Amino acid sequence: MGRVLIIVAGGVGTVVAHKVTQNSTIFTDIMLASRTKSKCDKIAEAIGGNKIKTVQVDADKVEELVALFNEFKPDIVINVALPYQDLTIMDACLIAGVNYLDTANYEPLDEAKFKYSWQWAYQERFKKAGLTAILGCGFDPGVTGVFTAYAAKHYFNEIHYLDIVDCNAGDHHKAFATNFNPEINIREITQKGRYYENGRWVETGSLEIHQPVTYPNVGPKESYLLYHEELESLVKNFPTIKRARFWMTFGQEYLTHLRVIQNIGMARIDEIDYNGQKIVPIQFLKAVLPNPQDLGENYTGETSIGCRIKGIKDGKELTYYVYNNCSHEAAYRETGMQGVSYTTGVPAMIGAMMFLTGEWKQPGVFNVEEFNPDPFMEQLNKQGLPWHEEFNGDLEF
Ligand code: NDP
Repeated sequence: MGRVLIIVAGGVGTVVAHKVTQNSTIFTDIMLASRTKSKCDKIAEAIGGNKIKTVQVDADKVEELVALFNEFKPDIVINVALPYQDLTIMDACLIAGVNYLDTANYEPLDEAKFKYSWQWAYQERFKKAGLTAILGCGFDPGVTGVFTAYAAKHYFNEIHYLDIVDCNAGDHHKAFATNFNPEINIREITQKGRYYENGRWVETGSLEIHQPVTYPNVGPKESYLLYHEELESLVKNFPTIKRARFWMTFGQEYLTHLRVIQNIGMARIDEIDYNGQKIVPIQFLKAVLPNPQDLGENYTGETSIGCRIKGIKDGKELTYYVYNNCSHEAAYRETGMQGVSYTTGVPAMIGAMMFLTGEWKQPGVFNVEEFNPDPFMEQLNKQGLPWHEEFNGDLEF
């Protein structure tokens, strides 16, 4: 049915590669491109059967990307590189006439700041070119937006309160490790907190607000209010929302390490001089931390991510909780990666499937909640991320 190019061979890229090959009637030609070709080859070899072509690419370079796109002629690019590469890949898509999907919004390398405006600015160009760009199609952002759209479509006349709750109750048996790219993860967590209330954004100190939240099959876990990118698009696309917040669990070990990393300057993103050489402390730190792709083997426990929603249906107040729990061991058995890479890579594959099957094909730049959630929700159940619903329970907020 369609040709797909996966850009990069990281933890998430590995899961995407496994999942597209499992759906070979839809993804008929598959190429995996990354900075280090040997990493692509290793993934292709693990999957076997000569199902995936591999190639080297520097995703910071538009000309290299355009040459690759013109040669392979993909119908869609699944961008699971770092947020820094979003705009170069989108530019190359426009030049070569290729559709686009990603899982994280653009962030400039020299400023720890993520917002959609940089990518929303491509709306007219994608529309004019007759190309579709699907933004934020991992789990969060991604499935959390689809969950919200599903709730709005089927259960609510108006959504008033949205709390996205993200728990990783897994144990990788390392003193400190991040579950996705360490540089991106630490930049995200050390930012100021922010949530939306009554038409404005309220800023908090970093991880200042926290409370215990009870997760299904896990129990209570201290959960910290963070700013997360889907809040920006969800309050725009569902204007009845009065308050939207995002919560994530962290263990004390993680928080202590994070505090030390910040206090000793290792989270700095500016260049420093080291023995006559320029280095960026957080990039150096990434080089010595465990690679998220190597965490899977001994990872136990599960993730639990969902949306807790309060609103109105037929004049009556309703609460709704929709969530998925994902086992790290099961993710590892299937793809060789841990649950966080899995919960990101599976939705990215489903988003590309939605495009190729015509369900989510529309010229322009869209966040996932702007499309019909039903076929995506159906695929979540089939592709390894089954979801569950609870009505009129205590949302704890
Ligand atoms: P990894 O660190 O495992 O992988 C990053 C990969 O990018 C590496 O293979 C690296 O290559 C490659 N790379 C970096 N720069 C370039 C470049 N210029 N050209 C080509 N390749 C490059 O990251 P993850 O897989 O953990 O995360 C990938 C993305 O997924 C991130 O953007 C992250 O924000 C997003 N994400 C989204 C989530 C969601 O739910 N929406 C959740 C988790 C992650 P090399 O090995 O050669 O260095």
